[in-house]
Amino acid sequence: MPTEGLLKQTQSWLRTHGITISKTLGQHFLINEQVLARTLDYADLNPTDTILEIGAGIGTLTRALANHVRHVYAIEKDSVLFDALQKEFEGITNITLIRGDAVKVEWPATNKLVANLPFGISSPVLFKFLSSEIQTALLMLQREFAERLTASAGSKTYGRLTVMATYTATSEILEYVAPNCFHPPPEVTSALVRIRRCVEPAFTVMDYSLFTRLVVVLFNQRRKKIRTPLTALLREMELKPNTIEEIKCQIPWLDHRAEELNPEELAEIANIIYQVKPD
Ligand code: SAM
Repeated sequence: MPTEGLLKQTQSWLRTHGITISKTLGQHFLINEQVLARTLDYADLNPTDTILEIGAGIGTLTRALANHVRHVYAIEKDSVLFDALQKEFEGITNITLIRGDAVKVEWPATNKLVANLPFGISSPVLFKFLSSEIQTALLMLQREFAERLTASAGSKTYGRLTVMATYTATSEILEYVAPNCFHPPPEVTSALVRIRRCVEPAFTVMDYSLFTRLVVVLFNQRRKKIRTPLTALLREMELKPNTIEEIKCQIPWLDHRAEELNPEELAEIANIIYQVKPD
C-alpha cells in the first residue's frame, strides 16, 4: 500500500518546484514508508558508512540515508531536479549531490551503493559496481532483471547476466515491491536485491575478455547445443582446424545447451580455449 503522507509530500514537492515527471529518466518516486524503512534495514547502515546513491530523485531516500551514515553522495541526471534538491539540501553537510549520468561520471569512493534505480540503466550500473571497489549494493530493480540476476542454471531466466554477475558476486532477492509503492506507478513489479562482491572471484577465469565473448556467443543461441556456436566462435578467432578439434575434444559438454551449463562449466570451456590456442 502507498503511504498517503509520502504520496502527498511527493506531489506537493513536485508542484512547488514546478517539476514535470520524466518517463525517459525512469522517474518513479518511492512513496511507501514501510518499503523505505525496510530499504534502510536491508542496507545494514552504520555511522561510519559512506554511501553512493544513484538517482536522488526528490531526495526521499537520500535524506533517510543521511540520517544514519557518515556521508551520502547522490548522483542525479535531471538538471531541474538537481537544482531543486541542491537548494533543499543546502546546509546539510553529509550530503553531496553530483550532477550527471551515473553511467558516465566517476563514482566517489564509498563502501555501499544504495539505489532505487531507473530501470533503463540497471545493466551498466550493475557492471560498473562489479568492477568498482564498493563491497555491497542494495538495489531496487525491475523484477525481471532481478530474477535474471539471481537465476540458477537450467531455469528460464538464467543467462549472460547471471553468469557474469556470479563470477564476482552473490545476489539475493529480498522482497518484491508492488507498482503502487511508487509515484507514478511503473508498469512492472520491482524487487529489492542485495548484491555482495566476493573477496575472490567464485571460480578461475584465465582470460576475462575471452570468457565474456564466449558467454555472449553461447547465450545468443541459448537453446542450441553449444557445438555449433562454439565452432563458429573458434573459426572467428582464426584458429586452425586441428586446434579447433583439439579444443573440442577436451570439452565434455558439446551436446549441452548454454542454459544448462553452470557458470563454472562455462569458465572451464573458456579456460580450455585459452590454454590450447597459440598465443
Ligand atoms: N531515489 C528516488 C526515490 O527513491 O524516490 C528516485 C528514484 S527514480 C526510480 C530514479 C531517479 O534516477 C530519477 O530521479 C531520475 O531522474 C534519475 N536518473 C535517471 N537516469 C539517471 C542516470 N543515468 N544517472 C543518474 N540519475 C539518473
